[in-house]
Amino acid sequence: MDFSFSTEEEAFRQEVRGFLEENLPDPVPTTPEFLREWNAKLRAKRWVGFAWPKEEGGGGGSLIEQYILKEEMSLRRAPPLGSDFMGLAWVGPALIRHGSEAQKKRFLSDILDSSSLWCTGYSEPDSGSDLASLKTRAVRDGDEYVVNGQKIWTSAAKQAKWIFNLVRTESSSRYGGITCLLIPMDTPGIEIHPIDNLSGRPGFNEVFFTDVRVPVENRLGKEGEGWRVVMGALANERSGISESTEMTRKLDSLIELARNSRKAGRPALEDTSVRRELAAFDTRIEAMRLNGMRNLSRQLKGDPPSSETSINKLLRGALEIRMAELSLEVLGSASQLEGPWQNAALSFHGTVIGGGTPNIQRNIIGERILGLPKD
Ligand SMILES: Cc1cc2nc3c(=O)[nH]c(=O)nc-3n(C[C@H](O)[C@H](O)[C@H](O)COP(=O)(O)OP(=O)(O)OC[C@H]3O[C@@H](n4cnc5c(N)ncnc54)[C@H](O)[C@@H]3O)c2cc1C
Repeated sequence: MDFSFSTEEEAFRQEVRGFLEENLPDPVPTTPEFLREWNAKLRAKRWVGFAWPKEEGGGGGSLIEQYILKEEMSLRRAPPLGSDFMGLAWVGPALIRHGSEAQKKRFLSDILDSSSLWCTGYSEPDSGSDLASLKTRAVRDGDEYVVNGQKIWTSAAKQAKWIFNLVRTESSSRYGGITCLLIPMDTPGIEIHPIDNLSGRPGFNEVFFTDVRVPVENRLGKEGEGWRVVMGALANERSGISESTEMTRKLDSLIELARNSRKAGRPALEDTSVRRELAAFDTRIEAMRLNGMRNLSRQLKGDPPSSETSINKLLRGALEIRMAELSLEVLGSASQLEGPWQNAALSFHGTVIGGGTPNIQRNIIGERILGLPKD
């Protein structure tokens, strides 16, 4: 297997570096004005939606160059490519795959321009890991669906303009009775109740639907095709090929923390157990990178992201938790104070669950990759 990049790909890397040198101040500002300008510059270069087809408003770039772009951005700790995270990561790709021409026209450019914000309505109080058991009901009434039910853990629902929502249109078929609806969050009958998480910040919400009327034209794919739509969207959510670069940056910060903290009277970085753990993190991040490459090479052959994305999701979760725990050990009594590592330690447990718990990833790896029998 050859992991080297072609001359054109290396030239593109230099172009990205040059752009970052010219346009990204150090330290990186976090003001809304800067982020707006930054998104506009990236959009003008067609780097937001880099690998989306040109006819859909994207950059028409290759997946390898997209990987290089994300890697270089992450190395410089640049803000994300566009601000509509869910729109870019899975709603847009699902629209490109399953949407009508009218839907693509209506939604894609807003996602690329960072002028929309999507949230995702999968989980319900009794349907998380077993998502296909969802009960929020949509009943057809002429040219509309009437939606009743409840979603939970809906990240960013309070700020979002639209929800990518799974509903049940048929109760006799478990998978074939699920449909995907695109619903404006200001539709009468939608009520949002924020839920505070462990770190004290509002993150996710309960979303209640009472007789919410949704035009049939807002259905993504055919009635009963929602499961197919969402399986692709979930693989996109978990694929995160460039995540290994992000984890490398986190490891760099952890090494810095260990260098500047003291354990038993000497720099924590000199402690053998700390050094062993840091080395193990580095090895696992490299495994993530290579697995990401494996998934990328599948996609280059025209296949969609596969079950292998679960491997990186699982690896990342375990890494996030152990890195956060080690940071608290290194901080010692200072771990009781407020700070970025302390906050991270409070949020990582949730991050690991979002997009599917570790047990569910293990089931997917066991059944779909290793071919083990379903228990
Ligand atoms: C930070 C965060 C953000 C989120 N954002 C969203 C969002 O935007 N939209 C959305 O719809 N949802 C969101 N979720 C919800 C998330 O998808 C669910 O929490 C997750 O799928 C687990 O479902 P559950 O909470 O109902 O747990 P359950 O499914 O009840 O699981 C409970 C426990 O049982 C285990 N378990 C369940 N089934 C099996 C099995 N078959 N085999 C082995 N073990 C099993 C699980 O691993 C877990 O440990 C978010 C969650 C978090 C933490």
